[in-house]
Amino acid sequence: MATAVNELGGMPSLGEVPEQMVAQLIRPERYGDPLSAFKEETVATPLPRAGEVLVYVMAAGVNYNNVWAALGRPVDVIAARQKAGESEAFHIGGSDASGIVWAVGEGVSNVKVGDHVVAHCGVWDPADPWIVDGGDPIVSPSARIWGYETNWGSFAQFTRVQSHQLVPKPTQLSWAAAAAYMLVGATAYRMLTGWPPHDVQENDVVLVWGGSGGLGSQAIQIAKAKGAIPIAVTSGEERGRYCMKLGARGWIDRRDFNHWGIIPDWRDDAAFAEWLKGARSFGARLWEVLGERRNPRIVFEHPGESTIPTSMFVCDNGGMVVICAGTTGYHAAVDLRYLWMRQKRLQGSHFANDEQCAAFNEMVARDEVDPCLSRTFAFDEVGLAHSLMHENKHPMGNMAILVGARDADQVDV
Ligand code: NAP
Repeated sequence: MATAVNELGGMPSLGEVPEQMVAQLIRPERYGDPLSAFKEETVATPLPRAGEVLVYVMAAGVNYNNVWAALGRPVDVIAARQKAGESEAFHIGGSDASGIVWAVGEGVSNVKVGDHVVAHCGVWDPADPWIVDGGDPIVSPSARIWGYETNWGSFAQFTRVQSHQLVPKPTQLSWAAAAAYMLVGATAYRMLTGWPPHDVQENDVVLVWGGSGGLGSQAIQIAKAKGAIPIAVTSGEERGRYCMKLGARGWIDRRDFNHWGIIPDWRDDAAFAEWLKGARSFGARLWEVLGERRNPRIVFEHPGESTIPTSMFVCDNGGMVVICAGTTGYHAAVDLRYLWMRQKRLQGSHFANDEQCAAFNEMVARDEVDPCLSRTFAFDEVGLAHSLMHENKHPMGNMAILVGARDADQVDV
């Protein structure tokens, strides 16, 4: 059975901040396979500054961003922070947490010591001129992802956050489930609701890549709750069935097609015709599983390089491909004829703002969206969880790490 950190170090009394804490650290000399990149070490506990909160972490969520952090590419997060003036030669990752407010910095009024909270991962400088001028904070130049671009994430006994990151923990959820959904769920929520007039509407067809994954599992449920018709893309029957349980009308097995990757040069007639054949047969399969000849008004994208040409092709006239990642690569080559002649939109989207996180959290609190917690790992298995994710061998849905919580079912303290 998993050993939680409070069994290792003991849970201090509420509000008492120990000088040191246990954390899973990445160091540059360990960059590479996540299995060996993370290691348990003892470090000084960070203290909350003005506007910040120290949270005793009960559970932490697992996301793809700390696969990238462990690999040290495409961004060396430690070097980037040192360049910006920070001294630590390590990274404490973890961009999802459930926990207990343990100490608050000056000026914090939205939470108090003892509150049970979930942290979202958007941080920014409130004095950023973009924000002061009324701009969306998550678009501002100072916006960062806590526990990836910033240090002191949730793979530790304590995490330091900005107070606006905290929302109430849905009371029905275990600590582990409460740590599993926010990063992917709020990202999916913004992608599907944040880009009017392409905010998801009743009866819209929504094509969801990686439907059984972290983002996809949340996107299917959000689309369904808004009255839309999600169609999932997956690799394999078990994943397809999982998507149906979450509310997908049908699913497409991407392994039945082989036209993936960068679109061939349009001047190469034979290669282009072959690609078009693949894209058309994918579109035909979509109509087949949907049960009618209608194209998706929204395509929910994140694989990127491999799939973006197909996404742009199957998207309906006047529809939107909304993308938040390029897991398979960043080379977005599309046939522009489909973009302008059919007046489609290719929209970038990145995490979410406070209002979107709060609105999504309420959907979870109302049981409209399930966090899809799959496997819960022990604290010393942070590397294992990320290694499975890197190899696309992780379970469907979202994973969590027990930090202060004793088991996956613990709801209270
Ligand atoms: P995940 O749980 O691993 O799910 C991704 C899914 O993509 C997999 O389940 C897999 O499903 C599918 N996939 C894998 N290779 C594929 C390929 N070659 N072609 C098509 N589909 C493929 O990961 P996630 O948490 O959903 O995150 C996905 C990506 O989004 C990551 O790169 C992550 O960093 C990024 N992300 C960005 C933001 C943001 O705010 N910008 C937020 C969250 C996540 P099948 O094998 O079943 O198709």
